[in-house]
Amino acid sequence: MSQSDDCLFCKIVAGEIPSTKVYEDDTVYAFKDIAPKAKVHVLIVPRKHYANAAELAAADPGTLAHIVEVAQHIADDAFHGAFRLVFNTGEDAGQTVFHVHAHVLTGQKFEE
Ligand code: C5P
Repeated sequence: MSQSDDCLFCKIVAGEIPSTKVYEDDTVYAFKDIAPKAKVHVLIVPRKHYANAAELAAADPGTLAHIVEVAQHIADDAFHGAFRLVFNTGEDAGQTVFHVHAHVLTGQKFEE
């Protein structure tokens, strides 16, 4: 599925809902999280709609690997390459938007 009509992040990727862009290319779009949980908190989403990381891994592992590369570049710029990468997967894990997104948390030292 390339786009889901009711999907918030499909609308952000399409520019129908505003976001603060950090990076984009042919396969992914990255923007600042509106409720940051770290000094730098960026979401990376594939342009195509997949519900979660497992679905993306099964359908398009190259894009999943690319998301990790993009996260590394963001952290190289923000905090000498150190970062946390989180994919909340499933409602009980805290996933609220069902278009796969990587949380990149960086820009600061994490103690634990
Ligand atoms: O992993 P989860 O699904 O909970 O993450 C969704 C994230 O999307 C939240 O961190 C929320 O702050 C962010 N968000 C956003 N812009 C929106 C709506 C949600 O950055 N317009």
